Amino acid sequence: MEILDRVHLIPLGGEAGAGPTTSGYYVQGRDCGAFIDGGFPDLERTQPLLDYWKDTLGSPRTDWILVSHRHYEHAGGVKILKEATGARVAVGSGDTEAVNADFGQGTEPVDVALDGGEIFDLGDRRIRAVACPGHTAGTVCYLLEEEGVLFTGDHIMGQGTVVVRTDEGGSMAQHVESLRQLLDLDLKLILSGHGPSITDPHAKIRELLQHRLEREEQVLGLLREGVNEIDALLARIYGETSQRMAFLARHQVVAHLAKLVEDGRAAPMESGAGYRPV
Ligand SMILES: [Zn+2]
Repeated sequence: MEILDRVHLIPLGGEAGAGPTTSGYYVQGRDCGAFIDGGFPDLERTQPLLDYWKDTLGSPRTDWILVSHRHYEHAGGVKILKEATGARVAVGSGDTEAVNADFGQGTEPVDVALDGGEIFDLGDRRIRAVACPGHTAGTVCYLLEEEGVLFTGDHIMGQGTVVVRTDEGGSMAQHVESLRQLLDLDLKLILSGHGPSITDPHAKIRELLQHRLEREEQVLGLLREGVNEIDALLARIYGETSQRMAFLARHQVVAHLAKLVEDGRAAPMESGAGYRPV
């Protein structure tokens, strides 16, 4: 559906009977258009993007598939979309290798590796790549410049908590910095990869920064209390959680510890079992 002037939201994913899990977008310009994010690895779940492009929009010229990051519900369908539309695929340089390897099926679908600052000119409107590493190494947000609309993928989500995957090149220090830099932009609206749009971007960004800061202080406080091991920290911070939640929570604690070490506020214990405050 057209949610703003020539900006279309295309809901994706979700099991039968459940709501969609992921938001794909298409931005039209006078000369060409661009997909923001590239659907799932399977045709079935990427089909809504193709149907919308073909049936609703009439197969307009599409120069770009702008991918927010390497995860499967954002980058999975790039090969399918590229073959159907002829668009070129742009991915943050830190995630390019993973997207090529995971979703290329023997080809390398990524055409352009982004470092931030690149401009995609659609004719009467422009999209600028904003490097936002943290969630993954190559996370990129896309700014529809004149309108102040920012497409954030998983860097900022309309629902749920962003998990920083240090095992995939993510970094909490970078994530926090990538949030902070967005406060310098004149933003009117955030359209994310999951959940509702965010109509007060700066308030949301400040809230997220505050939450991260509080979590960091909580981890450091526990280290000072002598709670040093990751499992013990997890139990204290998150209590009883489901297995899936515990998996994600562990990544979060690991990411916070890595940031505290980077900032010189914590260090690995000499025994190798856990961390201590510095
Ligand atoms: Zn993700």
